[in-house]
Order: sequence, then C-alpha cells, then structure tokens
Amino acid sequence: MTDAVSVRRAQVASGLVPLDAQVLLAHVLDVPRAWLAAHASDTLRAQAADAFFELARRRRDGEPVAYLTGVREFWGLSLRVTADVLIPRPETETLVELSLSLIPAAASANILDLGTGSGAIALSLAHERPQARVTGVDISAVALAVARDNARRLAIGNADFLSSDWFAGLGDGRFDLIVANPPYVGSADPHLQDGDVRFEPRVALSPGGDGLTALRAIIAGARAHLVAGGHLVVEHGYDQSAAVQALFRDAGFGGISIRNDLAGIARVVAGSSPA
Ligand code: GLN
Repeated sequence: MTDAVSVRRAQVASGLVPLDAQVLLAHVLDVPRAWLAAHASDTLRAQAADAFFELARRRRDGEPVAYLTGVREFWGLSLRVTADVLIPRPETETLVELSLSLIPAAASANILDLGTGSGAIALSLAHERPQARVTGVDISAVALAVARDNARRLAIGNADFLSSDWFAGLGDGRFDLIVANPPYVGSADPHLQDGDVRFEPRVALSPGGDGLTALRAIIAGARAHLVAGGHLVVEHGYDQSAAVQALFRDAGFGGISIRNDLAGIARVVAGSSPA
C-alpha cells in the first residue's frame, strides 16, 4: 500500500467508535476523559444521556468529532472550531515547525498567514514568538470570527485578523515571513467525498481544477509582500511537491527546502526572497 493510499484509508474512517463515544460523553459532562473511568458506574442524568445520544447519532452519521465538541488541539493550543473552518490537521504542525525555525526566538518579525481559517497557524506562531506581529487573513468573514474568538480565548495579543482575498486587502505592507495552508485538493480527488472531509468548507479544501490555483496565486504574489531575504512557507497536497518547488523557482525564490509530514509525505515547501 502506498503512503497516499494508507493516508486515504485512515481518513476514510468515519462513524462512531468507542474513543469518539468517550470524547463525546466527556464533552457532554464537561469532564476530562479520565474522569469516565473513575466514575464508570455513575448514572447519567436524563438530560446528559439525551445530549450524548444526540451527539453519538450525529457522529454515527459522519459529522467530525471536532465539530461536535467544538474544539481541536493544535500545537498544544486548544482551538475552537466550527463547520465554517477547516479542522486543523497534524500535518500542518510540520509547517509551523519549519516556520519557527526561520524566525529567531527574540525577533520582532512581521508574519502573514494567508487563509487563516480557525487561526491555527497564526496563533501558534504568535504564541511561540511573542515579539512577532502576526496578521491572519481570510476571505471568509465567518472564519475570521472564529480566529478572533480563538485569539481572545487564548489571550494571544500579537495576532490580528483581517478580511482579504489572498494579498488583495493588504496594501503594500511587507512581511519577514508569509505562511499558507491554502485549499489544494484537486476537484476530481475522491478524498473530498470521504469521511470528515465531506463536512468541511469546500472552499477551504479545494480551489477546483488541479488543486494548484491558490498555491500559484500565493507563490506568484508573495515576493511583492516580502522583505529582501524574507521567507515563504506553504503546505501542499501529497503529490504536489515537485510542482510547488517549480512554482517557487519560477517566482524567483532561492534556498528552497522541503519537509515531510509525520506520515513521511512531502508536505511543505519553503523558499526565500532574494536579498
Ligand atoms: N490536508 C487536507 C486534506 O487532505 C487538505 C487541506 C487543504 O486543502 N489545505 O483533507
């Protein structure tokens, strides 16, 4: 089985499993999951039982656990998620890791996150680099509301969120680092019909066509918004690494590097703007 196929198999899984049942019950009771084992014979109040059955039914019918509980951990942060935003993925932590390696801990860097969604990437970078100023943009007003809510709940004060269609709303501001996890799934990819993905905003997953439209726009536009020597870091699809590296070269980026995700799939490309 190829990596791509095994990843697809893992993502197809959907429906109620015992772990989900525990997570949903702990959510309904507002207790940590470990509490359940210590109270295994407690009787549920009727209201709690009803709320649990309702969530269990929705999970059985395919809704993602993160949308049912409204939370997902990412880079150690507990983020609120709604069906208006993509559920943060573990592979996106690879992008955060590489991005942090490009920004010295004490640097007062200006960072831009394109297509911020829940704010997962922007808030992780802002949290790890308190001296930095992070701007997260999204075309979706409802996504921006989720990102702002996350910043407020996590008390992260060095991240701002604003409405922009990629670079369109940014004026001529320049950044030391631009990051993006844009929609990159091709419109014919059967993965879009699988499991949890069916419930996520299509606009956050797929730009249509071959899946590279958004990456092309971002990579082509980034240099005009980077300082000399600034970095661009993007996440891409499981089979897009070579195409994305070529786009970086065509746009004049140097120092191109790539990173694999935890499943060993090339997932992130970084490059720097000529000094
Ligand atoms: N990695 C996600 C998926 O395969 C896609 C995320 C994206 O398009 N940026 O479901």
